Amino acid sequence: MNLQNKTHGPVDPPLDCPACPRLVELREELKATHPDWHNAPVISFTSEKPRLLVIGLAPGMKGANCTGRPFTGDYAGDLLYKTMLDYGFAEGTYLARPDDGLQLRDAMITNAVRCLPPQNKPTGAEIKTCRPYLLSTLAANPSIRAVLALGRIAHETFLTALELKRSAFPFAHCAEHNLPDHGTTLFDSYHCSRYNTNTGRLTEDMFRSVFDKIRNKIP
Ligand code: SF4
Repeated sequence: MNLQNKTHGPVDPPLDCPACPRLVELREELKATHPDWHNAPVISFTSEKPRLLVIGLAPGMKGANCTGRPFTGDYAGDLLYKTMLDYGFAEGTYLARPDDGLQLRDAMITNAVRCLPPQNKPTGAEIKTCRPYLLSTLAANPSIRAVLALGRIAHETFLTALELKRSAFPFAHCAEHNLPDHGTTLFDSYHCSRYNTNTGRLTEDMFRSVFDKIRNKIP
C-alpha cells in the first residue's frame, strides 16, 4: 500500500491510552465491575504479511473488550471467523476465546476505534482520534491488497485515512472500489452484527458474496 509519504507512529495504542476521555471512563467502570475482562484498547490480530485487512467499527462489550482479540466472543465474530475459515483466511478452530489456537492466514483484523464505545457508537471525535493507529497499521503493512470495511464507519474511516473523497467511493454492500494509487481494493459489507443478521439486513450468503469477490481479487 502506497503510504510512503505518510508519517506514522505505533500501529497499536498503549493499553492505557488516555486520548478519549469518554472511552477511558467506560473502561475504568468496567474494570471495577468486570476485573477479569480485557477492558483496554484491542490490538490487531494478524498473520505475517497480510494481503487482506478487515476493518470493524469498535470492540463489542462482551466480545473483544472482554477477550482482548478482535471479534472474539460475540456473534459478529462467529460469522466473521466462520467465513474467514471457509475462505482460507484463517486456520484452526474458532472457539470464541483468544487461546483457541486460531491463526489468521494472509489476513489481519482491526477496528477503526480500538476501545469500547458506549452503545457501540463512537463519536466523530473518537473516530478521528483513533485514526492514526489505522493509518500506521496500513503504512506498516505494505502487503495489504484488499481491505474489507465492515459497515459505513469503517469504510469512511479508511477513505479518510487515505485522504480520499467519500463522495467518490460511496458505501454499498458488496461494493468494490479499486484504488490503484494505493495498490489496493476496498470492499464493503454491512457489519456482521447480530442486529444486522437478525433483521435480515445481512444474510450469510450476502456476506459470502463479499468474500467471493475478495478471493477473486486475491486468489
Ligand atoms: S479509542 Fe483509540 S485513541 Fe481513543 S483511547 Fe482508545 S486507543 Fe486511544
